[in-house]
Amino acid sequence: MALPSECDLAVVGGGIIGLAVARELTLRRPGASVVVLEREPELARHQTGHNSGVVHAGIYYAPGSLKARLCVEGARDLYAYCEERGVPFERRGKLIVARDESELSRLDELERRGEANAVPGLRRLDAYGLREIEPHARGVAALHSPATGVVDFAAVARAYADDVEAAGGVLELNCAVTTVESEPPARGATARRPARGPGGGRVRLLHSRGETRARFAVFCAGAWADELAVEAGADPDPRIVPFRGAYLRLRPDKSALVRGLIYPVPNPELPFLGVHLSRHVDGNVSLGPSALLAPTRLAGSLAWPGTWRMARRWWRTGARELAHAVSSRRFAREAADYVPELEPGDFSRWYSGIRAQALARDGRLVDDFVLSETERTLHVRNAPSPAATSSLALARLIVDRAERGLD
Ligand SMILES: Cc1cc2nc3c(=O)[nH]c(=O)nc-3n(C[C@H](O)[C@H](O)[C@H](O)COP(=O)(O)OP(=O)(O)OC[C@H]3O[C@@H](n4cnc5c(N)ncnc54)[C@H](O)[C@@H]3O)c2cc1C
Repeated sequence: MALPSECDLAVVGGGIIGLAVARELTLRRPGASVVVLEREPELARHQTGHNSGVVHAGIYYAPGSLKARLCVEGARDLYAYCEERGVPFERRGKLIVARDESELSRLDELERRGEANAVPGLRRLDAYGLREIEPHARGVAALHSPATGVVDFAAVARAYADDVEAAGGVLELNCAVTTVESEPPARGATARRPARGPGGGRVRLLHSRGETRARFAVFCAGAWADELAVEAGADPDPRIVPFRGAYLRLRPDKSALVRGLIYPVPNPELPFLGVHLSRHVDGNVSLGPSALLAPTRLAGSLAWPGTWRMARRWWRTGARELAHAVSSRRFAREAADYVPELEPGDFSRWYSGIRAQALARDGRLVDDFVLSETERTLHVRNAPSPAATSSLALARLIVDRAERGLD
């Protein structure tokens, strides 16, 4: 379908969040015109197509946070959606393993959070219990989450895209949005009696295919979220600082050593869950991701005061990550802490993904999902993991707010 120059809702970004938002609006308002503008020649090319593929159950997140609520709701809805649409997934189950006594208090805290967040089926296991789940794993204790699963999020995003097109929405590829302008309502319009039709207030998006005027626009631009928000008049804080997450692949003849998902007890001060072993939907087992500042938009990252504040605080972790990037054998050695039969030579380099992580001016890595709004735009400013898991629930929240703008 040709790209219309006028629409009700424009969504910028054809990743899993933008597509979930477009889908949600077409479901709620069957007559509405919805357009998705994506700069790449295909959908889901960035974070959505390059991640761990884990359907998180909601264990880690601070009770009461958006992540906690939307992850638990989102995982439930995502499984139901995949079942209905025939998107392959597996509830493989996850172990979070404490290697020694020093990690037990942090495991206790995760258990407390998981219970507060109503994570289904979560249980504590001792050293013997964890081997019943993962016979080759070693540790002093673990949390077992049977509801954690795996899926290909790019396949989920394509299914959302099919729903949008089936409902009459337009997906425009090779269409990079460069400029965002607000147009005032026509003269005579008031808040009580807003102008309808072409005279009503609009947001004007200039892009590589011309321009699109919309009654409301939602920006789900991942690593470019801050640039577009600033372009639309929002605060530059927080800024996106991209982190590269690289994965190694386990030799297929060793993959029987890992049945499901084996995670470390993470550092509670960082928003990353740590390097884990995951058996994907296709049966391959990965180790990763690393977390190193990515060269994408590096000049911008270095110009942001928060980057230097973060570097001063986390330089030791950064140095370890750099060593992983230089030597995949060194990276692979970490796997033996959890599954002693694994050796560095069992892994080869695989894919990588760029995390769009928001970093505040004061050097704090922003943990929760962040949305910001202007009169006619809504910006997803921080949607790191578990945003793919939470996509259906997050889209409901975003469309609740977009509808206020549309009405
Ligand atoms: C290494 C890694 C591991 C992860 N693991 C998990 C996991 O196991 N489980 C989980 O739930 N989540 C995970 N995540 C997080 C998850 O992948 C993201 O939260 C999710 O994909 C975010 O989707 P998105 O649509 O916001 O972003 P993206 O998928 O990055 O999409 C943004 C889109 O916007 C487009 N865009 C940008 N600027 C413009 C512009 N100016 N004009 C038009 N289009 C534009 C881009 O081309 C892109 O397609 C992981 C992420 C990474 C990187």
